[in-house]
Formats: sequence, structure tokens, C-alpha cells
Amino acid sequence: MKKIVILGSTGSIGTQTLDVVRAYRDKLQVVALAAGKNVRKMEEQIREFHPQYAVMWDEKAADELKRSVSDTGTQVLCGMDGLMEVSVLEDADVVVTAIVGMIGIRPTIAAIKAGKDIALANKETLVTAGHIIMPLIKECGVKLLPVDSEHSAIFQSMNGEPKKRIEKILLTASGGPFRGYSKEQLAKVELKDALKHPNWSMGQKITIDSSTMVNKGLEVMEAGWLFGAAPEQIQVVVHPESIIHSMVEYVDGAVIAQLGIPDMKLPIQYALFYPDRLPMQQKRLDFYELSSLHFEKPDMETFRGLKLAYDAFYKGGSMPTVYNAANEKAVSLFLQQKISYLEIYEIIGSAMAAHTAIASPDVEQILAAEAWCYEFIESRW
Ligand code: NDP
Repeated sequence: MKKIVILGSTGSIGTQTLDVVRAYRDKLQVVALAAGKNVRKMEEQIREFHPQYAVMWDEKAADELKRSVSDTGTQVLCGMDGLMEVSVLEDADVVVTAIVGMIGIRPTIAAIKAGKDIALANKETLVTAGHIIMPLIKECGVKLLPVDSEHSAIFQSMNGEPKKRIEKILLTASGGPFRGYSKEQLAKVELKDALKHPNWSMGQKITIDSSTMVNKGLEVMEAGWLFGAAPEQIQVVVHPESIIHSMVEYVDGAVIAQLGIPDMKLPIQYALFYPDRLPMQQKRLDFYELSSLHFEKPDMETFRGLKLAYDAFYKGGSMPTVYNAANEKAVSLFLQQKISYLEIYEIIGSAMAAHTAIASPDVEQILAAEAWCYEFIESRW
């Protein structure tokens, strides 16, 4: 029985992780769940999965949850202390990091230090603190298993291959709902349009990030850290059907890819049972029905989010933190309909231009760069 902790259990990745648990109750056991403030969903999850602990970030939500589950054996914790406590539980084998944002950094570091394997969805942790996380993973001898579908595909395409023979990583991107749009068309995009992804069903923030290609930018940096690749070794390929989840090209020109229907449960399940593969009830690819697959070069001039990500990756240090934090703030303003779609790029670009990068920042400096970035944006927008 593998014992798991899910940080962000009420979200898109969290609930799909619980779908996998539901299918394999004889192999997976939930020992702790954590969420922000969705008390109703957390209560449902507690009643179904009986974790020892449940954490709510929000204090009021934690008090409300305590009252509503007082008849269960689940202990309710709160805030960062709660996240830290469940990330190092002696009983746990794997921590699934499915929180949104940089809040995931400290619990992930604590879990690694406590010897837990990490199933990583929270890409912001690697983007901003990859230089801390990757050496720590090695030092503590734990596994870092990618949950992001592209990174899982790369990981699977590297299985058993000599790392030094990799020439480049081909990171696929659907191109989002606005693929092929001009700047003029992007200027007219409204919130409801940006919240519709053609192939994937995801949380709100990542859906917006997919439409701006900032998500792909974050994934480029995530891949860089996970697979030890330089920015120039990672090539983004637009593939609108999202059937090839990513590929790896080797020095002899061979390209190995992982294909499948777009369903996050597959990479989640693969991470939880790695290196085994267990059966999964889901639609299969039918190659007789797949008449054609398409590939394009990304338009980085119009979709500046991707270009800015490469700039941040090349610059390194605290610049990826500012890229990520500026985007988080900008997306939040866009979700509140306070800024236009193209202002998301403007905000990221301005914050990066105003920031002097610190090389190899520690966690405090990363969080200080985030705070600086928020202040910078708040004083201007
Ligand atoms: P969602 O917005 O759907 O879910 C976020 C989860 O995090 C919710 O459970 C939320 O709780 C919880 N949460 C938010 N803030 C806090 C906090 N301060 N403390 C504790 N819990 C918190 O996001 P997604 O599931 O879409 O994404 C999660 C992560 O996975 C992101 O980093 C994303 O980039 C990555 N990812 C997502 C993919 C997807 O298909 N969705 C694919 C690949 C990666 P509450 O519900 O209470 O607010």
C-alpha cells in the first residue's frame, strides 16, 4: 500500500489524483489532503477517503471544516504550518504537489528533506527554485516524478536511454484557443474566450496560461530543471491535436515520443506507480480514426509569453521568479476583468525589465523577489 499526501486536493489535478486512488483503493491510501478554502469539497473528500489529516490554508475555512467533520477521525490543520506538517508525515511515501503557485516551494523542500518521493504538478516550484530542489533530490535520494503531461511524456521517452545521447527535447503545445490569432485579434480577447481550452480541462489559472503560452514558457523552464537541459535544447512545437504529449530527439536523429488521448489521469497514475504501468479504464487512441496530426512553429512575436520565458530562463537566478510572479498577478487581474488580455504580456515584460536578477537566490530571496514584483505591479496597475 502506497501512502499519499495530496497538496491541492480540491483542484483539477487533485481531484483527478483522487480518481486514480478510487480506481486503486487496494494499492493507494490517502493520509493527508490540503486545499485553500473549498470546505464543501474537502468535507466530501474526507468522508470518502478518511485521511488522518486535512489542511485548509484559510483560517476561517479550517474552523468551519473542523466543525463539519468533528464526527470523523480526521484532524484539521491550517495554513503553512499545516502544509509543512503533512508534507513530512512519517507515514507518507509520496507527496503530490498540486497547489497553484509558489506556495508549494516550502512544503516540497520539507517533503524532500523528510525522504518523500514527489509527484510534481506544481511547476512554479521548479521554475523558481529548481536550483535548490534538483540538488536536494539527489542528496536525499528521493524520486521527482513529473505529473505535467508533457514532462511525463519526456520522462517516458527517456526511459532506458543514455541521457548524454539526448540532442533536444521537443515540447509540444496545443497552441490554445487563439492559435493563429494576430495581435489585433488578441487585443479583443475576453475572459470567457480565454477560459475555453480546445483539448484539456484544467484549473482557471493554467487555462489562461495555456492561451497566452505562458504555461508553455513555464514548462520550458520546468523541463530544463527536470532533465538538465539548456534553453537552446528545448524546442516548442505547436501540435493542435494534443495527441503527441512531447518527444525526445537523440544524437542519431531518432525521435521517441509518447502518445495518448489528452487525459491527465494517465501521467498522474504513471507517477504514482512508476516504474510500473497499471491498467486504466479510458478511451484508447484509434490510429484508423486519427487521419492526420499537425505541427507548427510557435509565433513568439504575437504570443510574447513564450519569448519572455526563454529570456527569463537564459537570465536565470531570480528572473524566472519575477516572470512567474508577474504572470500570477496579471492573470489574477485579468480574471477580475481589471486589465485587458494583452496587458498580461505588458505586465510581465515591465516587471522583468525593472528587475535586477539575483544569482542562485535562496528561498527567502525568491519570496522577496515575488513580493517586490507584486508591489511593482500594484503601484502601476
Ligand atoms: P486548481 O486551481 O484547479 O487547483 C488548485 C488547488 O490548490 C486547489 O485544491 C486549491 O484549493 C489549492 N490551493 C490554492 N491555494 C492554496 C494554498 N494557499 N494552500 C493550500 N492549497 C491551496 O489548479 P490545477 O489543479 O489546475 O493546477 C495545480 C498545479 O498543477 C499548478 O501548478 C498547475 O500549473 C499544475 N498543472 C495543472 C495541470 C492541469 O491539467 N490542471 C496540468 C499540469 C500541471 P481550493 O480549491 O480550496 O482553492
